Amino acid sequence: MDIEFFGAAGEVTGSCHILRVGDQTVLLDCGLIQGSRKDEARNHEPFPFEASSIDAVVLSHAHLDHCGRLPLLVRRGFRGPIYVQEAAGELVAILLSDAAHLEERDAERESRKTGKKVKPLFTLEDGEAVMRQLEGRKYRQRFEVVPGIEVCYRDAGHILGSCAVEVFASELGRERKLVFSGDLGQYDTPILKDPECIDQADYVLMESTYGIRRHRARDETVKEIGEILSEVRAGKGNVLIPAFAIGRSQEVLYLLGKHYEEWELYRFQIFLDSPMAIEASKVYWDNHHLYDEEATKLRKENGGMPLLPNLKLSQATEDSMAINRIRSGAIIIAGSGMCNGGRIVHHLKHNLPDARNHVIIVGYQAYGSTGRRLVDGNDTVRIHGQDVQVRAKVHTVGGLSAHGDQDDLARWYECMQNRPPVWLVHGERESQLAFKDYMGQRNGAQVSVPDPGERLTL
Ligand SMILES: [Zn+2]
Repeated sequence: MDIEFFGAAGEVTGSCHILRVGDQTVLLDCGLIQGSRKDEARNHEPFPFEASSIDAVVLSHAHLDHCGRLPLLVRRGFRGPIYVQEAAGELVAILLSDAAHLEERDAERESRKTGKKVKPLFTLEDGEAVMRQLEGRKYRQRFEVVPGIEVCYRDAGHILGSCAVEVFASELGRERKLVFSGDLGQYDTPILKDPECIDQADYVLMESTYGIRRHRARDETVKEIGEILSEVRAGKGNVLIPAFAIGRSQEVLYLLGKHYEEWELYRFQIFLDSPMAIEASKVYWDNHHLYDEEATKLRKENGGMPLLPNLKLSQATEDSMAINRIRSGAIIIAGSGMCNGGRIVHHLKHNLPDARNHVIIVGYQAYGSTGRRLVDGNDTVRIHGQDVQVRAKVHTVGGLSAHGDQDDLARWYECMQNRPPVWLVHGERESQLAFKDYMGQRNGAQVSVPDPGERLTL
């Protein structure tokens, strides 16, 4: 068996690993590179393999940095099955159609601007082709991917339907087990169950996005959000929450619902201003069989989801534009999560120059993104070709991250009694090196940090 680390080695986006067992080739994830324009331009480059030579794809979860290059893979000739956890499959459909829309729109805009025909990275049609190749699977049911490779999905607690993947590879009469962590959530994440314990493996490919840090305790984060909201009530401003349509948006809504009385949220107008987040929320609300105990109980008490009686789902562009006229008392949850596009950008433009307003950053912000500039405290950010003054207060509440911190990651690993060797495949280099040291001291794990393109024979 060998593994080639094609994407996300030494960075946090573009997850894609090539697994070869006998004459079969399987991709673990096929993610999009996200971040600055220069980084994103790399998505147009050819794959270092023939798309038609891939036998199957196994997806860990429905984030673009894990599944966003599938439309390219299919367009370039991949015809095999794409395995995905069932609820994750519903989210992938939403994600790819939204991404294709944006690609087509940007290409059109670029074509008008330059006078040259600019092609989108992929189209709606490419996204639909992916959907026809998706094969939904349940958690904890082992299935054959290709001859010699079987897979079992385990809950990773990161977003709905997210998986750590157990890969059983048989070669020359011998079976070995590789575990690919996908993205791991925090323990006690709202709505979702904890990352599931996997008790043994021969090798582990593991993410380390937050391998360098510890998140603030969740209850402190929740307290902090409560304090920000009481400041907003007193100062009569608006609150902007840039959030990924899938995962963070639903978690934020849930948290607001849970503390509705305590935070006096009946005083606010709450908007989910993203057609995509609305669709994703519906998938979350429908798949309540995947909830943890608390969410199951709150849903039952409330008689269904969502928990917020004053939530407005803002579908049409006019609805979104109308929100821009509200000067006070609005909580606006909108994408994109890193503020590089989407409706949040318009809200930032209208709200950043006013010191009464607040921005609450709840998710990871990659280098080069507008969100990262806000987190880093820049006085101005560039939006639609203009410098916009940042007078609004920017709060970063790390405790809501969809990713586990170094403790969570180590705890998940330590389920594996036999302490298998680890390769870190997802994380900025600095974080990976710190996590390697941390693991060495904490549990003596043998941890390696591969380079992109490195090939490992096991
Ligand atoms: Zn993810």
